[in-house]
Amino acid sequence: MSRDSQLFLNLPPPVAGRGEELVPVRMVNEWVYCPRLAYLEWVEGEWAESGDTAEGRRSHRRVDEGSGRLPAPEDADDVVRRARGVTMSSQRLGIIAKMDVVDLEDGVAMPVDFKKGKRPHVAAGAYEPERVQVCAQAMILEDNGYRVEQGALWYVGSRERVPVILDDQLRARTNDAISGLRSAAMAGRRPPPLQDSPKCPRCSLAGICLPDETNLFKLGGPPRPLNPSDDAARPLHVQTPRARLRKSGERLVVDVEGKKTEVPLVEVSDVAIYGPASVTTPALHLLMREEIPVSWFTSGGWFLGHTVGTGHRNVTVREAQYRAAFEERRCLDMARGLVRAKVRNSRTFLRRNWRAAKGEGTEKDRALGRLKRIATEAETAANVQQLLGVEGEGAAIYFRFFDRMLAPTTGAEVEQFSFATRNRRPPTDPVNAMLSLAYSLLTRVFTNVTSSVGLDPYLGFYHRPRHGRPALALDLMEPFRPIVADSSVVQVINNGEVRPPHFVWNGNACALKPAGRRAFIAAFERRLEQETTHPVFGYRVTMRRLIEVQARLLTRFLQGEIRDYPHYLPR
Ligand code: SF4
Repeated sequence: MSRDSQLFLNLPPPVAGRGEELVPVRMVNEWVYCPRLAYLEWVEGEWAESGDTAEGRRSHRRVDEGSGRLPAPEDADDVVRRARGVTMSSQRLGIIAKMDVVDLEDGVAMPVDFKKGKRPHVAAGAYEPERVQVCAQAMILEDNGYRVEQGALWYVGSRERVPVILDDQLRARTNDAISGLRSAAMAGRRPPPLQDSPKCPRCSLAGICLPDETNLFKLGGPPRPLNPSDDAARPLHVQTPRARLRKSGERLVVDVEGKKTEVPLVEVSDVAIYGPASVTTPALHLLMREEIPVSWFTSGGWFLGHTVGTGHRNVTVREAQYRAAFEERRCLDMARGLVRAKVRNSRTFLRRNWRAAKGEGTEKDRALGRLKRIATEAETAANVQQLLGVEGEGAAIYFRFFDRMLAPTTGAEVEQFSFATRNRRPPTDPVNAMLSLAYSLLTRVFTNVTSSVGLDPYLGFYHRPRHGRPALALDLMEPFRPIVADSSVVQVINNGEVRPPHFVWNGNACALKPAGRRAFIAAFERRLEQETTHPVFGYRVTMRRLIEVQARLLTRFLQGEIRDYPHYLPR
């Protein structure tokens, strides 16, 4: 028995109140396996598909299709019947089960649960979480008036049936597990992660739970490289004017005047629509059902907003965020950290990419020294106004030397990609046009990721709420502006991916033409795919995944699970 589950020992399961959601018994199984896993899935609505979960679903397919009819207890005598997919609940225990199979013989019912894989060779015949699950099913049947003498587990892999003996010890353990999960859910108390457990590397939620990362802040010690590789799904950008995105079964089809490109839905993480491209209603419904966000941009790449489904069900994260956002002291602390990280990362980016031919030496040292001093000043700013001043000073120095990182080769490029100062709304030169687009794309990334982990992207700590402005996304992306956005701009100029013919002027305003925008977006997405070493945890991770980890750590910080939010500070 785990230490965490012992915390809840001997609490009788409270009778479920009217309107209280009943706990599925497979969550009771997960609670026994790992209380945090059950909590994340049941209370916080987290889910991640893995090979194991997909295989488990396949082995249940037949029983899931069952009719689920069982004769009433009073009509069960002299009946021999096998019912598949029987749904039944117990208000007393506050649980509900869809039982794979219930065998009825002469008034005695026996729940049989199907498991993928082979029977384990353990003394009790099966692992405890699985026996508890069957016991919970038996208790539901008993509460509904059926006589139950034992349960069973059917192992699909080895085609073996293992009896489950419903003794007092198993029943007590089952009651404890039900009480533990329901009490934790009612109290909004997320159990701590397991410590150094062999269960974590196999857990499909390891990338969401962040067990070792969370423990690192509490207990010290480097995390194991559990962090699952980045999701294989990627953003789908629809940029051609009048392109139409529609669905065809489980595929998305981009239709440009009869020319079609198909993408399987599982390969799409989010959709970005530019200008007058459109999405059909059935496609939008499918995307919302699958929780795949759609971001909307103007033709020029200005981020307008995003469409999501019903959103993350874990309201407790948003409650914690709202509480913190209304506390001036916490907002200032968070804002100081963000500005400090932004200035430090600007300095790091400048230091790494400063071209030797462009004033290496005293000028570089002076610029880096001033940025270092400004980053320190951010830590002690007395209020947000002062912090805005510090941030502005840092940006002015950084952009004054931004062109020291550019290395255009041809004469035309040298002229077009000369950079004097940051300007926007509208950007008046190619470098500023690309910087504006890069920040828009980064806003999309952070809006989607904050929303996907259960945060409200529109309420920040540093940026103040304004209609339609994703303030939290803007907050969290500050330290990533130089590392992801500016870095993409420097890269496309220096390697010639975007060239002078890729730009167009409308009066004073400069913008990328469609081919230039396509090339730039490809470079930006590539930057997100690049692997980097996490400066705190030490493992290799893509930038896309690192951003998600940061957003999840913020939820842990806001909910008090870790003491400090670790800002991203590459060396
Ligand atoms: S990663 Fe480990 S601690 Fe986290 S839910 Fe999975 S098994 Fe539990």
